[in-house]
Amino acid sequence: MPSQRVLVIGGGIIGAASAHYLSEAGCDVTIVERKKFAGACSHGNCGYISPSHVLPLHGPGVVTKTMRAMLLPNSPFSIKPQFNPAFLSWMWNFTRNCNVDSQLASADRMAPLLKSTNALYEDLLTNQGLEAEYKKKGCLFVFQSPEGMEYYAKTNELLMDRYNVPATRYDAEALVKLEPALKPGVAAGGWHYEMDAHVRPDIMMKSWRKILESKGVRIVEDCEVTGFDLQGGKARAVKTTQGDLTADVFVAATGSWTPFFNKLLGTAVPIQPGKGYSLTMQRPAVCPEIPMIFQEHKVAITPMTTGYRIGSTMEFAGYDDRINQKRISLLKTAAQLFLKDPYTTPIEQEWFGWRPMTYDNLPIIDQAPSMKNVWIAAGHNMLGLTLGPVTGKLVSEAIIGQPTHIDVTPYRLKRFKTKQKPLSPYAATT
Ligand SMILES: Cc1cc2nc3c(=O)[nH]c(=O)nc-3n(C[C@H](O)[C@H](O)[C@H](O)COP(=O)(O)OP(=O)(O)OC[C@H]3O[C@@H](n4cnc5c(N)ncnc54)[C@H](O)[C@@H]3O)c2cc1C
Repeated sequence: MPSQRVLVIGGGIIGAASAHYLSEAGCDVTIVERKKFAGACSHGNCGYISPSHVLPLHGPGVVTKTMRAMLLPNSPFSIKPQFNPAFLSWMWNFTRNCNVDSQLASADRMAPLLKSTNALYEDLLTNQGLEAEYKKKGCLFVFQSPEGMEYYAKTNELLMDRYNVPATRYDAEALVKLEPALKPGVAAGGWHYEMDAHVRPDIMMKSWRKILESKGVRIVEDCEVTGFDLQGGKARAVKTTQGDLTADVFVAATGSWTPFFNKLLGTAVPIQPGKGYSLTMQRPAVCPEIPMIFQEHKVAITPMTTGYRIGSTMEFAGYDDRINQKRISLLKTAAQLFLKDPYTTPIEQEWFGWRPMTYDNLPIIDQAPSMKNVWIAAGHNMLGLTLGPVTGKLVSEAIIGQPTHIDVTPYRLKRFKTKQKPLSPYAATT
């Protein structure tokens, strides 16, 4: 059989990982990127590989809590009022999903992805030479209030009992002993998820590019895909700003931009850009060893080997690409509250990324309804860095016609028309 020519649209982590496993499977792969490879959401994110993040954003009471929090000046969430039917429909569906059944249904479908991606990362790092400043120090979920700590205890129990995700509980003093970069007397306590790890995303993507190119993957930058050329119900080529590019199979790994292809893909992809920010700088003198999330503030700290990052916040403001200084200052304020040496100057990079948010927290891995040789691999929400390898592997298995190592039915587009039930806990954890 001659090798299949696959054209991957989008040079973020999902495109890179898809190209990686497709190339390993013997395909002839090209990545086409409208700007620079790994220059969008996969560049300045917090770098967490997070098996602990099995639970989705949508849970019981989330809408009320978020609305109340948004009235406060330091809320980590913000929604710009917008009369955009796609956004309003997304919000409506998100709200409908804020209940225990939907929360567990999404988590049950997330669990096998997280388990598989962890193993794939280990292989990439140990056997394939992926350099990423990888460290397995776990992740601390830090709570300021004793009520927050107690309330979270139930969630922690659920994570352990249903998803086999263990954590160690630390009360105030023990937490500061474990992580002396924390100020004493501020946090009520925290939970340490030892199985989590972290990387420096830009370094990792640079190294991944080298690996891809050494495998013969072509990366075409500054080349925007503007449409598809169809022949007999299939895509023959993509139209780009550098001319037509033909292939046998296409993968749209276009993150938050995927809905711009709705008409061509023959479906309304329910992805909204969820803007988050990060600040990158040199490491402070008293630098944390363990990455941590200040849970009430939703601010994350990533101590990297060659730098230090404060990140997060969630802003639904459409495709507004301005940096909102008010939201940047929330990152510094939270770090100042909890850490002895919260940040350094100068700030080397003020960054934002659009997380490709689906309302059920699950990615989309499916064929386009209008063209069977076009696959969609997008919608990785707050976990795209974590889920890159497993998505790439699934995309490659599906395209070369192998049985996928995880059933991809839950990630198909048709789920958006049906209500999903929680799975048996046994199915989720085995
Ligand atoms: C502040 C912040 C912190 C985060 N922290 C973490 C974390 O710690 N752990 C984690 O797992 N995840 C994290 N995430 C989420 C993660 O960054 C995203 O889920 C992930 O980067 C999405 O990858 P992607 O490849 O789908 O999208 P992107 O990286 O955005 O890549 C999509 C690419 O497609 C290209 N493209 C779009 N349209 C076209 C076109 N027409 N033609 C050609 N190219 C096109 C774009 O230019 C872009 O480069 C974080 C996100 C943010 C914002």
